[in-house]
Amino acid sequence: MSLSVLQQEDGNIIDGKATAQKVLEEVKSEVAKMKQQGIEPCLAVVLVGADPASQVYVRNKVEKTQFVGMRSLEFRFEADLTQDALLAKIDELNADASVHGILVQLPLPKHIDETAVLQRINPIKDVDGFHSENVGGLSQGRDVLTPCTPTGCIRLLKDTLGNDLSGLHAVVVGRSNIVGKPMAALLLKESCTVTVVHSKTRHLEKLCQQADIIVAAVGRPKMITSAYVKDGAVVIDVGINRIQENGKNRLVGDVDFDDVLPIASAITPVPGGVGPMTIAYLMKNTLHAAKLQHVEL
Ligand code: NDP
Repeated sequence: MSLSVLQQEDGNIIDGKATAQKVLEEVKSEVAKMKQQGIEPCLAVVLVGADPASQVYVRNKVEKTQFVGMRSLEFRFEADLTQDALLAKIDELNADASVHGILVQLPLPKHIDETAVLQRINPIKDVDGFHSENVGGLSQGRDVLTPCTPTGCIRLLKDTLGNDLSGLHAVVVGRSNIVGKPMAALLLKESCTVTVVHSKTRHLEKLCQQADIIVAAVGRPKMITSAYVKDGAVVIDVGINRIQENGKNRLVGDVDFDDVLPIASAITPVPGGVGPMTIAYLMKNTLHAAKLQHVEL
């Protein structure tokens, strides 16, 4: 039996690009209101090294920050930056009251301890939601900053199924700290019944077949085929995998889109699904952080 899905403009394909644009417009209008009250939300992005993918992400983040009217700060360092120097930069940004969000682009060079760096960011400025204070707060259901990708997935689900997700069975494929675990915590907060499956799970296919909602965050191209999906389920594909097909480079998700499309009541494409939501929610988180730091608003 199909879930009751709200009408999508493009049949059963969830348009993440359009939703992300909507989120950015919402943020833009709230930023304008904050500026009238004398507060300019500000995101600081720190990049260490010259990883080409990271450079593209950072450029994109800076562009979107400017689009929504926030102040954007960018700090680029050589790959041989010491851990102490990076921690000192974070201390400086923590102490700067005009900076509301701090994002350290991952991955960091091997000689730097990622956990030590993420734990140094003031939790109230931690727009990635990776600090243990925010991870713990999410599991307690407190109003904390939550990771951008899974938070964006919740918005896609609500725009597709309506605001009430309670009682739906969600299967999250993957248990990483960045996607799978926070995704499961956010779904639980929405009163879904949540199953988390991973590389050691037995009968994974059978468990997925019971899902009203499948969120795939595995990093394995086209792993989730129609055999895993119940008729009418909603499928959110977080995966971004570069593959060679017919001699060409292609981006594909963790879901076999063409195979699953005919049976899902709604499905995100790759690209153009979850990807654009991640950056839109980074903007939303920066706004949220600015509000947390200005409780008078
Ligand atoms: P990780 O590699 O950190 O985690 C992958 C998870 O999948 C692990 O929990 C692993 O299990 C599980 N897994 C691996 N193989 C299998 C299998 N055969 N069966 C079941 N579970 C399996 O990846 P991330 O969570 O960081 O990312 C997942 C995907 O999402 C990637 O493609 C990544 O590029 C993409 N991504 C996309 C983002 C976006 O903005 N759209 C943002 C972040 C990630 P175990 O723990 O047992 O090893």
